[in-house]
Amino acid sequence: MSRLPVMSLKRVLTSSSSENSQDMAPLQKRMRKDQEPRKPQAAATIIGDKRPATAAAARAPPYRPIRGAGAATVAAGPSRGFVRPVAASTAPKAANSKQPAGAKPGVTGATRRKPWDLKGKVNDMEGKIRTYQTKYRSVNEENEALKDSVAQRQTKVSELEQEVKGQKRKISEYEAELQMLSGVQNQLEEVQREKNVLQKEMSNLEQKYKVMETLRDSQETELQTLKMKLSVQESTMTRLQATLRDREEEVSSLKETVAEQRDELHAGEMERRRLHNTIQELKGNIRVFCRIRPLEDGGLSKHIQLAASDNKSIMLAKTEESHTGKTADTQKNYHFSFDRVFGPLASQQEIFDEISLLVQSALDGYNVCCFAYGQTGSGKTYTMEGEEVDDTRGVIPRAVQQIFRAGDKLSSQGWEFTFTASFVEIYNETLRDLLYTGKASKRPEHEIRKTASSDVTVTNLTYQKVHTEDQVLGLIALAKENRSTAQTAVNDRSSRSHSVFQLQIEGANAGRDIKCKSTLCLVDLAGSERMMKSQSQGERFKEMTSINSSLSNLGIVITSLANKESHIPYRNSKLTYLLQNCLGGNSKTLMFVNISPESDSFGETLNSLRFASKVNDCVIGTASSNKK
Ligand code: ADP
Ligand code: MG
Repeated sequence: MSRLPVMSLKRVLTSSSSENSQDMAPLQKRMRKDQEPRKPQAAATIIGDKRPATAAAARAPPYRPIRGAGAATVAAGPSRGFVRPVAASTAPKAANSKQPAGAKPGVTGATRRKPWDLKGKVNDMEGKIRTYQTKYRSVNEENEALKDSVAQRQTKVSELEQEVKGQKRKISEYEAELQMLSGVQNQLEEVQREKNVLQKEMSNLEQKYKVMETLRDSQETELQTLKMKLSVQESTMTRLQATLRDREEEVSSLKETVAEQRDELHAGEMERRRLHNTIQELKGNIRVFCRIRPLEDGGLSKHIQLAASDNKSIMLAKTEESHTGKTADTQKNYHFSFDRVFGPLASQQEIFDEISLLVQSALDGYNVCCFAYGQTGSGKTYTMEGEEVDDTRGVIPRAVQQIFRAGDKLSSQGWEFTFTASFVEIYNETLRDLLYTGKASKRPEHEIRKTASSDVTVTNLTYQKVHTEDQVLGLIALAKENRSTAQTAVNDRSSRSHSVFQLQIEGANAGRDIKCKSTLCLVDLAGSERMMKSQSQGERFKEMTSINSSLSNLGIVITSLANKESHIPYRNSKLTYLLQNCLGGNSKTLMFVNISPESDSFGETLNSLRFASKVNDCVIGTASSNKK
């Protein structure tokens, strides 16, 4: 709606110009407050803005020009926006309150009438009326125009309102659309992010692809190289196959030769055994070696003399002082000869060199028995077991070493060997297992049994399969330990017991269906010394009797064998009963007689040499190998 006030006609008609201006002033003030300054439009007169505000306000009519209203009296206000109508011809100049009261607007050049000039006054009034009428008409017209304008405005306003409504609707539509679009925007961003990720992935894949391509290229080159190599190899292979065929033919002919040579070798081996045995028999199936222990300071005592010419004789010289002192001292010489006499300087190796031939016989299938006889301290254990250092090792470890090595060699000729070791102590005619590892309280008792095949076994005895020298050395150590536990301070048990090491050798040549079986016995006998009757009481007497009887029985058995007596008293002692298969016709026996060089051992030495020479005189009947 138009903010312009519509002037009341009545007021216009009834009020004087001064009244008008007075009435209208506050209205104008009101309007000034309300109205926004407006640009002048189609003004006929522009009033300068330097006019004092108060004067302008006083003169300004309460309405403003209306566009299209056709008024000719519209004036644009100053910058403050004052609007004042200017009548084309009849508009009062100004309602200046300071004007003299008689100066009426619109009455140009009117002068005060004389009080009597009524006609003039009437004319003035009529003129005034005409002016007002004209004014009225113009105002009326203006009002009509304003009404039209208002109506137009109203229509326009309602149109605008419609438009606003439409716009609002559109805005809400747009808002909805915007909202939707913001969702779409989010989706778009999401998609963008995904796109970025995918792009990254793709670039990664591209890189990988490039790497793979390079790899493929290199592999293709490699493949080409390999193909070339393969073709080269194939041609080489065909050539080699041809060579192989040639070689195979060669090999089969060589195999035939090898078989022939094996036969020859076997025949040679058998011949060697035969000859070896012949030599051993010629040397005697019972051999006695004498070994003299060095004195503690390493020298040799005067009463023992060794022949310079050979290494087979020994002489003991005994000087008897004259009892009266008047006659010269008499010297008694005792001569003995054995298969070998080893002086105090003989090394363990020299000793073994002589025995090794018998050890070979054991591997060839003959039973072999080796004894060490002599008084305590004469060097029996040293000879049989020796010490742990290589040079001082005794007969047992050296024999075992030789047997294992020879067994290995023979395996190339088709021989397979198994070795079983046992170690037994005979004390007071009781057997004790020296390889026993169980509790002392649960030590079993042993008995010597003869099997149906005439093999001798001991019940509950440890028979240990051995494959290496070290194993055997371990067993020797174990036996030593077992012996020392049974020994007390007052009882040097080892010197009063026999210890018997037995190695059972079983060989088989499957290709030739030959088997052989033999036993190597290495015996460290109890001390041969005889005790003074006064010393031999109680336990010692029992020991002494059992030692004496078993040693003398050994002598008897060997002599009976030599004399080919019908009855051989093996059963008379545990020792001979245990060794019955290793003594006699089928065996080779070696006896070491160990002697102490000290002059106070003279008596024992003489006894030992006498016993040994008795054995040495025996010749056991021709031995035959235990071949089956
Ligand atoms: P047995 O067993 O006859 O009682 P041993 O073998 O125990 O005697 O010897 C007694 C001591 O003499 C030991 O200390 C031993 O080392 C030493 N012995 C024995 N024979 C020899 C030898 N031929 N050379 C060096 N020392 C020896
Ligand atoms: Mg000993």
